[in-house]
Amino acid sequence: MLERKLIFPNVIELNFQAGHIIGCNVYLVFDGEEWLLMDIGYEESVEEIVELVRELDFPLSRCKMLLATHADVDHGQGFALAKQMLKTKLAAHPRAAKLLECGDKLQTFAEIEAQNIHLEMPLVTTDLTVDEGTIIELGSLKIEVWSTPGHADSQLAFRMGKLLFSGDNIYRDGCVGAIDAHHGSDIPAFIRSLQRIRNSDVEWLLPSHGPIFRKDNAMLDKTIARLESYLHMADFGTCAIDWPLMDQWEEEIASGKLPQ
Ligand SMILES: [Zn+2]
Repeated sequence: MLERKLIFPNVIELNFQAGHIIGCNVYLVFDGEEWLLMDIGYEESVEEIVELVRELDFPLSRCKMLLATHADVDHGQGFALAKQMLKTKLAAHPRAAKLLECGDKLQTFAEIEAQNIHLEMPLVTTDLTVDEGTIIELGSLKIEVWSTPGHADSQLAFRMGKLLFSGDNIYRDGCVGAIDAHHGSDIPAFIRSLQRIRNSDVEWLLPSHGPIFRKDNAMLDKTIARLESYLHMADFGTCAIDWPLMDQWEEEIASGKLPQ
């Protein structure tokens, strides 16, 4: 039996619990004997995670669900195996459910041909779709589902009191989840999701990668301003809404302006 390293009441994070990096953050939330996992990571980590949960003395049969923050390969490649090992349900946003069901490799980042990244994406059926406003009850705990599109159109965050399991919305250093048109990223939506997090009264952010941290509005403001600048820059291609240089160019072409 292992001693449980709680980060907050009812919350264990499995990388922190293990004392080494397993993969993306996997949160185990529990009340009494009932528990759930938020994300699972790569398939190769599933056995270690299940063994860890067993050693923490959680009855494997009391796993209420696996809850997907979104469908990316580094968060969900192991869902199929974990679902089978734990004989439990998978809950996901309807759009994530579609990607997981058909093993979409492009939108889950499993296949990035140009970088020679070719990962498996085992097909898995979602048993329960969750979306904005869904309340997940776990023992006496209530977990509120937030739809926070931006990084992915199916990105979810989960609120439990003063805690927000914030997925790939924001990390401790102010970085955000990758912005990529092929992934369904949407910068205006991302800004709205970050503003919602900023303006909420949650106190702690529990991201999907890296350390847990206290919500810091100054840091969020800086990140939001950065993303607002992306809206008018070519850096993220079709994710931008305009590119003012093109208007300037048009005027200069029309007026025959020479380089200065
Ligand atoms: Zn991620």
